[in-house]
Amino acid sequence: MRDPSKPLDAIVAGELYTDLILSGFDFWPQPGQEAFAKKFHREVGGGASNTACGMARLGSAVSVLGVVGDDGDWLVRQLAQKGVATSHIICDPAEPTAFTVAISMTEERSFLTYPGANRSFPAALTRSAAAKCLAEAAHVHLAFPPDLSTAAKLLTSIRANGCTVSLDVGWHEHWLRDARLREILPLLDLFFPNESEAHCIAGETDPERILHWFSAAGIRRVALKLGARGAALLWDGEIRFDTPPRVRPVDTTGAGDSFNAGFLHSWLRGEPPHTCLRTANICGALSTEAYGGVAGVPDAGRLQQLLETHS
Ligand code: ADP
Repeated sequence: MRDPSKPLDAIVAGELYTDLILSGFDFWPQPGQEAFAKKFHREVGGGASNTACGMARLGSAVSVLGVVGDDGDWLVRQLAQKGVATSHIICDPAEPTAFTVAISMTEERSFLTYPGANRSFPAALTRSAAAKCLAEAAHVHLAFPPDLSTAAKLLTSIRANGCTVSLDVGWHEHWLRDARLREILPLLDLFFPNESEAHCIAGETDPERILHWFSAAGIRRVALKLGARGAALLWDGEIRFDTPPRVRPVDTTGAGDSFNAGFLHSWLRGEPPHTCLRTANICGALSTEAYGGVAGVPDAGRLQQLLETHS
Protein backbone atom coordinates (compact mmCIF):
# COMPACT_ATOMS: atom_id res chain seq x y z
CA MET A 1 0.00 0.00 0.00
CA ARG A 2 1.19 3.49 -0.84
CA ASP A 3 2.53 5.63 2.03
CA PRO A 4 -0.45 7.99 2.75
CA SER A 5 1.92 10.96 2.90
CA LYS A 6 2.75 10.18 -0.77
CA PRO A 7 -0.36 10.81 -2.89
CA LEU A 8 1.60 10.18 -6.12
CA ASP A 9 3.23 6.92 -7.22
CA ALA A 10 5.69 8.79 -9.40
CA ILE A 11 6.84 12.06 -10.89
CA VAL A 12 8.34 11.70 -14.37
CA ALA A 13 10.82 14.49 -15.13
CA GLY A 14 12.06 15.43 -18.59
CA GLU A 15 11.74 17.60 -21.66
CA LEU A 16 8.28 18.30 -23.06
CA TYR A 17 7.57 18.76 -26.78
CA THR A 18 4.72 19.48 -29.09
CA ASP A 19 5.25 17.24 -32.12
CA LEU A 20 3.88 18.69 -35.37
CA ILE A 21 3.72 15.80 -37.83
CA LEU A 22 3.35 16.63 -41.53
CA SER A 23 2.95 13.97 -44.20
CA GLY A 24 1.70 13.43 -47.75
CA PHE A 25 4.24 15.59 -49.62
CA ASP A 26 4.66 15.27 -53.39
CA PHE A 27 8.33 16.25 -53.22
CA TRP A 28 11.09 17.33 -50.81
CA PRO A 29 11.57 21.13 -51.17
CA GLN A 30 14.89 22.45 -52.41
CA PRO A 31 16.10 25.81 -50.98
CA GLY A 32 13.62 28.48 -52.14
CA GLN A 33 10.78 25.98 -52.81
CA GLU A 34 7.63 25.26 -50.81
CA ALA A 35 5.99 21.85 -50.45
CA PHE A 36 2.48 21.33 -49.08
CA ALA A 37 1.51 18.55 -46.69
CA LYS A 38 -1.74 16.66 -47.26
CA LYS A 39 -1.96 15.60 -43.62
CA PHE A 40 -1.19 17.25 -40.28
CA HIS A 41 -1.23 15.74 -36.82
CA ARG A 42 -0.27 17.30 -33.45
CA GLU A 43 0.94 15.14 -30.55
CA VAL A 44 2.59 15.54 -27.15
CA GLY A 45 6.15 14.25 -27.55
CA GLY A 46 9.20 13.23 -25.55
CA GLY A 47 10.09 10.30 -23.32
CA ALA A 48 8.82 11.93 -20.13
CA SER A 49 5.26 12.45 -21.36
CA ASN A 50 5.21 8.99 -23.00
CA THR A 51 6.24 7.22 -19.78
CA ALA A 52 3.86 9.29 -17.65
CA CYS A 53 0.89 8.69 -20.03
CA GLY A 54 1.68 4.95 -20.10
CA MET A 55 1.73 4.79 -16.30
CA ALA A 56 -1.52 6.75 -16.05
CA ARG A 57 -3.20 4.36 -18.53
CA LEU A 58 -2.16 1.45 -16.31
CA GLY A 59 -3.67 3.17 -13.28
CA SER A 60 -0.67 4.77 -11.53
CA ALA A 61 -1.03 8.18 -9.90
CA VAL A 62 1.61 10.06 -11.86
CA SER A 63 2.68 13.63 -12.51
CA VAL A 64 5.01 15.19 -15.06
CA LEU A 65 7.73 17.68 -14.19
CA GLY A 66 8.81 19.73 -17.19
CA VAL A 67 8.80 23.28 -18.54
CA VAL A 68 6.48 24.85 -21.13
CA GLY A 69 6.19 28.39 -22.47
CA ASP A 70 3.11 30.56 -21.97
CA ASP A 71 1.72 28.87 -25.11
CA GLY A 72 1.75 25.53 -23.28
CA ASP A 73 -2.01 25.25 -22.57
CA TRP A 74 -2.67 22.70 -25.31
CA LEU A 75 0.15 20.41 -24.16
CA VAL A 76 -0.89 20.62 -20.49
CA ARG A 77 -4.53 19.90 -21.41
CA GLN A 78 -3.51 16.83 -23.44
CA LEU A 79 -1.55 15.39 -20.50
CA ALA A 80 -4.42 16.08 -18.10
CA GLN A 81 -6.89 14.35 -20.48
CA LYS A 82 -4.67 11.27 -20.37
CA GLY A 83 -4.87 11.19 -16.58
CA VAL A 84 -1.47 12.74 -15.83
CA ALA A 85 -1.24 15.35 -13.05
CA THR A 86 0.24 18.60 -14.35
CA SER A 87 0.82 20.60 -11.16
CA HIS A 88 4.61 20.07 -11.42
CA ILE A 89 4.76 21.64 -14.89
CA ILE A 90 6.50 25.01 -14.76
CA CYS A 91 5.84 27.89 -17.15
CA ASP A 92 8.80 29.87 -18.52
CA PRO A 93 7.29 32.82 -20.43
CA ALA A 94 10.72 33.75 -21.86
CA GLU A 95 10.55 30.92 -24.42
CA PRO A 96 7.85 29.09 -26.40
CA THR A 97 7.05 25.45 -25.61
CA ALA A 98 9.61 23.24 -27.36
CA PHE A 99 8.40 21.79 -30.64
CA THR A 100 9.49 19.31 -33.26
CA VAL A 101 8.35 19.45 -36.86
CA ALA A 102 8.38 15.86 -38.12
CA ILE A 103 8.25 15.50 -41.89
CA SER A 104 7.23 12.11 -43.21
CA MET A 105 8.43 11.19 -46.68
CA THR A 106 7.37 7.59 -47.48
CA GLU A 107 9.20 5.46 -44.86
CA GLU A 108 11.70 7.97 -43.49
CA ARG A 109 10.97 10.90 -41.20
CA SER A 110 13.09 14.05 -40.80
CA PHE A 111 12.88 16.14 -37.64
CA LEU A 112 13.43 19.85 -37.01
CA THR A 113 13.40 20.83 -33.33
CA TYR A 114 13.36 24.08 -31.37
CA PRO A 115 14.29 23.40 -27.69
CA GLY A 116 12.50 26.53 -26.39
CA ALA A 117 11.33 26.29 -22.77
CA ASN A 118 13.17 22.97 -22.30
CA ARG A 119 16.35 25.03 -21.94
CA SER A 120 15.29 25.92 -18.41
CA PHE A 121 14.26 22.35 -17.48
CA PRO A 122 17.51 21.24 -15.70
CA ALA A 123 17.48 24.33 -13.45
CA ALA A 124 13.74 23.92 -12.79
CA LEU A 125 14.22 20.30 -11.68
CA THR A 126 17.13 21.23 -9.42
CA ARG A 127 15.01 23.97 -7.80
CA SER A 128 12.00 21.67 -7.35
CA ALA A 129 14.14 18.97 -5.70
CA ALA A 130 15.84 21.48 -3.38
CA ALA A 131 12.44 22.96 -2.39
CA LYS A 132 11.14 19.43 -1.57
CA CYS A 133 8.43 19.75 -4.24
CA LEU A 134 8.93 16.06 -5.15
CA ALA A 135 8.13 14.74 -1.66
CA GLU A 136 4.52 13.84 -2.56
CA ALA A 137 5.76 11.05 -4.89
CA ALA A 138 7.18 7.66 -3.92
CA HIS A 139 9.41 7.64 -6.99
CA VAL A 140 11.05 10.02 -9.48
CA HIS A 141 11.80 8.78 -13.00
CA LEU A 142 14.31 10.88 -14.95
CA ALA A 143 13.72 10.71 -18.71
CA PHE A 144 16.72 12.81 -19.83
CA PRO A 145 20.54 12.75 -19.52
CA PRO A 146 21.39 14.71 -16.34
CA ASP A 147 24.54 16.87 -16.49
CA LEU A 148 27.23 14.51 -15.22
CA SER A 149 29.10 17.24 -13.35
CA THR A 150 26.06 17.88 -11.11
CA ALA A 151 24.12 14.59 -11.35
CA ALA A 152 25.33 13.16 -8.01
CA LYS A 153 24.15 16.29 -6.23
CA LEU A 154 20.81 16.20 -8.06
CA LEU A 155 20.21 12.55 -7.14
CA THR A 156 21.05 13.21 -3.49
CA SER A 157 18.69 16.17 -3.50
CA ILE A 158 15.86 14.07 -5.04
CA ARG A 159 16.44 11.33 -2.45
CA ALA A 160 16.17 13.94 0.30
CA ASN A 161 12.50 14.22 -0.84
CA GLY A 162 12.08 10.59 0.31
CA CYS A 163 11.90 9.25 -3.28
CA THR A 164 13.52 6.34 -5.09
CA VAL A 165 14.99 7.22 -8.51
CA SER A 166 15.23 5.64 -11.97
CA LEU A 167 16.81 6.87 -15.20
CA ASP A 168 16.38 6.43 -18.96
CA VAL A 169 18.82 8.72 -20.76
CA GLY A 170 17.97 7.73 -24.34
CA TRP A 171 20.60 7.83 -27.09
CA HIS A 172 23.05 10.60 -26.10
CA GLU A 173 26.40 9.31 -27.23
CA HIS A 174 28.60 11.85 -25.37
CA TRP A 175 26.80 11.08 -22.10
CA LEU A 176 26.95 7.31 -22.67
CA ARG A 177 30.70 7.42 -23.38
CA ASP A 178 31.58 9.70 -20.42
CA ALA A 179 33.51 7.82 -17.71
CA ARG A 180 31.83 9.91 -14.99
CA LEU A 181 28.62 7.89 -15.42
CA ARG A 182 30.33 5.08 -13.47
CA GLU A 183 29.95 7.24 -10.34
CA ILE A 184 26.34 8.17 -11.14
CA LEU A 185 24.71 4.88 -12.17
CA PRO A 186 25.34 3.13 -8.80
CA LEU A 187 23.33 5.93 -7.14
CA LEU A 188 20.14 4.87 -8.99
CA ASP A 189 17.51 2.38 -7.87
CA LEU A 190 16.89 1.36 -11.47
CA PHE A 191 18.49 2.04 -14.87
CA PHE A 192 16.66 1.53 -18.20
CA PRO A 193 19.06 1.36 -21.18
CA ASN A 194 18.26 -0.20 -24.56
CA GLU A 195 20.73 -2.53 -26.22
CA SER A 196 22.72 0.08 -28.17
CA GLU A 197 22.95 2.44 -25.17
CA ALA A 198 24.12 -0.40 -22.89
CA HIS A 199 26.65 -1.52 -25.51
CA CYS A 200 27.98 2.03 -25.71
CA ILE A 201 28.48 2.10 -21.91
CA ALA A 202 29.76 -1.43 -21.29
CA GLY A 203 31.57 -2.13 -24.58
CA GLU A 204 29.96 -5.60 -24.63
CA THR A 205 27.39 -6.92 -27.12
CA ASP A 206 26.04 -10.04 -25.40
CA PRO A 207 23.18 -9.05 -23.02
CA GLU A 208 24.36 -11.34 -20.23
CA ARG A 209 27.91 -9.95 -20.44
CA ILE A 210 26.48 -6.42 -20.46
CA LEU A 211 24.58 -7.13 -17.24
CA HIS A 212 27.65 -8.74 -15.64
CA TRP A 213 29.59 -5.60 -16.54
CA PHE A 214 26.94 -3.42 -14.81
CA SER A 215 26.94 -5.68 -11.77
CA ALA A 216 30.75 -5.53 -11.50
CA ALA A 217 30.52 -1.72 -11.78
CA GLY A 218 28.29 -1.65 -8.67
CA ILE A 219 25.01 -0.99 -10.55
CA ARG A 220 22.44 -3.21 -8.84
CA ARG A 221 19.32 -3.01 -10.96
CA VAL A 222 19.21 -2.70 -14.74
CA ALA A 223 16.28 -3.43 -17.07
CA LEU A 224 17.95 -3.95 -20.47
CA LYS A 225 15.58 -3.54 -23.41
CA LEU A 226 16.24 -5.92 -26.33
CA GLY A 227 13.64 -4.91 -28.94
CA ALA A 228 11.64 -7.82 -30.41
CA ARG A 229 13.63 -10.26 -28.20
CA GLY A 230 12.15 -8.71 -25.03
CA ALA A 231 14.38 -7.73 -22.13
CA ALA A 232 16.93 -8.88 -19.59
CA LEU A 233 16.95 -7.86 -15.95
CA LEU A 234 19.76 -7.54 -13.45
CA TRP A 235 18.21 -7.44 -9.98
CA ASP A 236 20.44 -7.55 -6.91
CA GLY A 237 22.92 -10.03 -8.43
CA GLU A 238 20.39 -12.18 -10.34
CA ILE A 239 19.94 -12.09 -14.11
CA ARG A 240 16.73 -13.17 -15.86
CA PHE A 241 15.33 -12.89 -19.40
CA ASP A 242 11.77 -12.54 -20.61
CA THR A 243 10.25 -12.53 -24.10
CA PRO A 244 7.36 -10.25 -25.13
CA PRO A 245 4.01 -11.51 -26.44
CA ARG A 246 3.92 -11.94 -30.22
CA VAL A 247 2.68 -8.73 -31.86
CA ARG A 248 2.32 -7.17 -35.31
CA PRO A 249 4.34 -3.95 -34.97
CA VAL A 250 3.27 -0.91 -37.00
CA ASP A 251 5.30 1.77 -35.16
CA THR A 252 8.02 1.16 -32.55
CA THR A 253 8.19 4.84 -31.46
CA GLY A 254 7.83 4.98 -27.67
CA ALA A 255 8.27 1.20 -27.13
CA GLY A 256 11.07 1.84 -24.62
CA ASP A 257 9.02 4.49 -22.78
CA SER A 258 6.03 2.12 -22.61
CA PHE A 259 8.32 -0.63 -21.29
CA ASN A 260 9.52 1.76 -18.55
CA ALA A 261 5.90 2.65 -17.72
CA GLY A 262 4.96 -1.02 -17.31
CA PHE A 263 7.99 -1.81 -15.18
CA LEU A 264 7.60 1.19 -12.88
CA HIS A 265 3.82 0.70 -12.50
CA SER A 266 4.34 -2.91 -11.44
CA TRP A 267 7.37 -2.24 -9.21
CA LEU A 268 5.68 0.64 -7.39
CA ARG A 269 2.80 -1.74 -6.61
CA GLY A 270 5.25 -4.05 -4.87
CA GLU A 271 5.26 -6.79 -7.53
CA PRO A 272 8.25 -9.16 -7.68
CA PRO A 273 10.97 -8.52 -10.32
CA HIS A 274 9.77 -11.25 -12.75
CA THR A 275 6.24 -9.76 -12.81
CA CYS A 276 7.68 -6.26 -13.35
CA LEU A 277 9.71 -7.56 -16.30
CA ARG A 278 6.74 -9.43 -17.78
CA THR A 279 4.51 -6.35 -17.41
CA ALA A 280 7.18 -4.16 -19.02
CA ASN A 281 7.50 -6.51 -22.01
CA ILE A 282 3.73 -6.65 -22.48
CA CYS A 283 3.50 -2.83 -22.44
CA GLY A 284 6.51 -2.38 -24.75
CA ALA A 285 5.23 -4.98 -27.22
CA LEU A 286 1.62 -3.73 -27.29
CA SER A 287 2.77 -0.14 -27.80
CA THR A 288 4.27 -1.18 -31.16
CA GLU A 289 0.82 -2.24 -32.44
CA ALA A 290 -0.49 1.34 -32.49
CA TYR A 291 0.85 4.53 -34.08
CA GLY A 292 2.34 7.11 -31.70
CA GLY A 293 4.08 6.92 -28.32
CA VAL A 294 1.98 4.88 -25.92
CA ALA A 295 -1.44 4.55 -27.58
CA GLY A 296 -1.18 0.74 -27.49
CA VAL A 297 -0.36 0.44 -23.76
CA PRO A 298 -3.11 -1.63 -22.07
CA ASP A 299 -5.29 -0.46 -19.20
CA ALA A 300 -5.19 -2.30 -15.86
CA GLY A 301 -7.94 -4.82 -16.79
CA ARG A 302 -6.38 -5.78 -20.11
CA LEU A 303 -2.94 -6.00 -18.47
CA GLN A 304 -4.30 -8.46 -15.90
CA GLN A 305 -5.77 -10.67 -18.68
CA LEU A 306 -2.49 -10.58 -20.58
CA LEU A 307 -0.47 -11.43 -17.46
CA GLU A 308 -2.72 -14.47 -16.97
CA THR A 309 -2.50 -15.64 -20.60
CA HIS A 310 1.11 -14.72 -21.54
CA SER A 311 3.00 -17.01 -19.23
P1 ADP B 1 13.83 1.53 -27.33
O1 ADP B 1 12.46 1.85 -27.83
O2 ADP B 1 14.22 2.27 -26.09
O3 ADP B 1 14.89 1.54 -28.40
P2 ADP B 1 13.50 -1.36 -27.61
O4 ADP B 1 13.49 -1.23 -29.09
O5 ADP B 1 14.41 -2.39 -27.03
O6 ADP B 1 13.77 0.00 -26.82
O7 ADP B 1 11.99 -1.71 -27.19
C1 ADP B 1 11.55 -1.64 -25.86
C2 ADP B 1 10.67 -2.82 -25.53
O8 ADP B 1 9.52 -2.83 -26.39
C3 ADP B 1 11.34 -4.19 -25.71
O9 ADP B 1 12.09 -4.52 -24.56
C4 ADP B 1 10.10 -5.06 -25.92
O10 ADP B 1 9.48 -5.32 -24.69
C5 ADP B 1 9.19 -4.16 -26.74
N1 ADP B 1 9.37 -4.32 -28.19
C6 ADP B 1 10.04 -3.50 -29.02
N2 ADP B 1 9.98 -3.95 -30.31
C7 ADP B 1 9.23 -5.08 -30.27
C8 ADP B 1 8.76 -6.03 -31.26
N3 ADP B 1 9.07 -5.90 -32.56
N4 ADP B 1 8.00 -7.08 -30.84
C9 ADP B 1 7.67 -7.22 -29.54
N5 ADP B 1 8.07 -6.37 -28.57
C10 ADP B 1 8.83 -5.32 -28.92
